[in-house]
Amino acid sequence: MEDVTRVVKDVLKTVAPYLEDARVKVNGVCDQIEGWQIIAYTFGFTLILVSLYNFIFDEEKSLTFRIKRSFFKFVKRLPIIKDQIAKEIDKNAKGVEEGFQKGVGKMKYIHKLPAKGLSEKKIMDELDRYHSLVKVDWSKGMVSGAVYNGEDNLTNVLVEAYRKFAWTNPLHPDLFPDIRKMEAEVVRMCCSMFNGDEKSCGSVTSGGTESILLACLAYRNRARENGIKFPEIIVPVTAHAAFDKAAEFFHMKMTHIPVDPVTCKVDIRKMRRAINKNTCLLVGSAPQFPHGSIDPLEDIAALGKKYNIPVHTDCCLGGFLVPFMEKAGFSVPIVDFRVPGITSISADTHKYGFAPKGSSVILYSDKDYRKHQFFVQPDWPGGIYASPTLAGSRSGAVIASCWAAMMYFGESGYVETTKKIVTTTRYIAQELSKIKGIYVLGEPQVSVVSIASHDFNIFRLSDALADTGFSLNPLQFPSSIHLCCTLIHTHPGVADNFIKEVKKAVAEIMKDPKAKCGGIGAIYGMAQSIPDRSMVSEIAGLFLDACYSTKDPEPEKNGKVNGKH
Ligand SMILES: *Cc1c(COP(=O)(O)O)cnc(C)c1O
Repeated sequence: MEDVTRVVKDVLKTVAPYLEDARVKVNGVCDQIEGWQIIAYTFGFTLILVSLYNFIFDEEKSLTFRIKRSFFKFVKRLPIIKDQIAKEIDKNAKGVEEGFQKGVGKMKYIHKLPAKGLSEKKIMDELDRYHSLVKVDWSKGMVSGAVYNGEDNLTNVLVEAYRKFAWTNPLHPDLFPDIRKMEAEVVRMCCSMFNGDEKSCGSVTSGGTESILLACLAYRNRARENGIKFPEIIVPVTAHAAFDKAAEFFHMKMTHIPVDPVTCKVDIRKMRRAINKNTCLLVGSAPQFPHGSIDPLEDIAALGKKYNIPVHTDCCLGGFLVPFMEKAGFSVPIVDFRVPGITSISADTHKYGFAPKGSSVILYSDKDYRKHQFFVQPDWPGGIYASPTLAGSRSGAVIASCWAAMMYFGESGYVETTKKIVTTTRYIAQELSKIKGIYVLGEPQVSVVSIASHDFNIFRLSDALADTGFSLNPLQFPSSIHLCCTLIHTHPGVADNFIKEVKKAVAEIMKDPKAKCGGIGAIYGMAQSIPDRSMVSEIAGLFLDACYSTKDPEPEKNGKVNGKH
């Protein structure tokens, strides 16, 4: 101890003359400046320093993103460009709205409550009229995803379960012990499917997006509790947009990791390099939505273990396929709680679980993670308020229907549907890969087949297929389209019909591969090339706006003009 004191004293003795020198020099300079100036300079300089720091370091958006955003904001304020954009947007808005108007035909919009309630008979007739607007026939397998089962006997079970529990609300477990038990059982059955131990737990949510939001929220809250002020999440670019939604809602920085261009699986080395002290979550999908590839979750989990970061498996799409693939006779990588390091899994009961829309589960390996998802307000005058998920009141009827669907299929039922769906998907992938002019992206191991082309604009193919009644999903970066195979596509003849139509359309396109693309394809192609992404967002906003349009179709020439909208 004395040695240390002596050393410090020695050091001070040597530097003392220099410090004295500096002091005299600084005072000499300051002699020329008045006191108020010193205060003003100090204040100004600090201000500049802080602003500069805030400009360079932001806890949510990167510097390049913000510079680009500011640049485009500036450009868009230039008068000529501003007018041009306004005109263009107006045109687009009208176009989208007209599109929706076509969808309702001659039916008028209702703008006010009916003065008097309608009879049940009248309501049912009206509902049938609305129902008749549907033009795309999903029951023939013309649609990608969207309707996952659609069989009448299941519909009856779901509707009956809904009817019995129509008035229940899991917000009141004391009033509705039946629904509480069912929700707990849905979670437990899912934990078992994913090989969770007795510590595993979860919640029923309103859909995959809510499951993902909750996981991100839980990990953000956990990270904050562990002293991370600005938690960040790392996801493959192919991860579902719900993660971006979570990052935006909960103010987290998001890092997107590129995927291998051939396998479409996340580049694990790039993911490792992106990890920093603020990372609160790593994500992998099983499978991912765009191309149906399964990310290397064992590798991601190993990273999580090594750096002590939680890992989420997004099994929203694969939730009721992947757990049954082995029993259905397919080899599949392990992506569940058997992998050390995987701390949560999202699985959509309302996709291949065949439950009605509005249900999904979020599962955790341990209650220690789930507790950060819960919300409690102990001081509310309305009572001590505690809720497990984003919603307050929830539909018990949806939980009952979900429970009913799971009991209806049972393990053997899901193994059977998995067998059909995976077999059909792989068959379609194999047949499509034989067609000259297009190629299959990634590894369609589960239920999604995506295709692209080196020879022509792939959106021409989706336009051509749309003409024959098929509705596929457009994808971007890279331009491609996909079919998400549901139980409906496993019906006899459906897959072959699809393959036949693709063959025909590709052959036609290949006669003139460089021809221009119109329709939705043109829009998608253009949208990818717009450097100002906020423009794309703005135009997409018009679409959402138009969804709420209740503007009646233009009246016939002599007709009366309708009132306000
Ligand atoms: C469908 C899906 C989700 C969640 O979507 P919801 O529409 O909210 O149910 C998340 N991840 C993947 C991979 C999905 O396919």
